[in-house]
Amino acid sequence: MMTRRLLLMGGTGLTAMLGLPWRIAVLSGEETFPVTHSDAEWRALLTPAQYAVLRQSATERPFTSPLLNEHRPGVFACAGCNRGVFSSETKFESGTGWPSFWAPLHEDAVATTQDTSLGMTRTAVNCAGCGGHLGHVFNDGPPVTGLRYCMNGVAMNFKPAAA
Ligand SMILES: [Zn+2]
Repeated sequence: MMTRRLLLMGGTGLTAMLGLPWRIAVLSGEETFPVTHSDAEWRALLTPAQYAVLRQSATERPFTSPLLNEHRPGVFACAGCNRGVFSSETKFESGTGWPSFWAPLHEDAVATTQDTSLGMTRTAVNCAGCGGHLGHVFNDGPPVTGLRYCMNGVAMNFKPAAA
């Protein structure tokens, strides 16, 4: 099933994915996640900006996230379910205006879906804990993976490592 889903992705995304040590789950749209809430509950739990990104796949305006300049060691956690999704160890300066990483925290931290909105085919990145939309992943990142996880800072909270 994993192989078939990866093949469906096609193109350069396939090459990048198969070349990776990471086996990122690909969503079929029918998954249930460990953390679930009703829409009303999500609206109550999240700020309007968090809700727009996590639950409606909005994109924050570039250069607006305080996490862009977060350089301390630690973990970036999903704002929806508080699960770790990225590490400071894979964060890099992409110049795009969105917090960028070359790998997720671990292979089970995120899942991906094909996103054909806005007339583009992109790979959307979702939290594996609650299914919340975090951002997109592109193939123009730095070594080791060559991937660029372009994340919405508003969808994440930073947890500094214990000193
Ligand atoms: Zn989450």
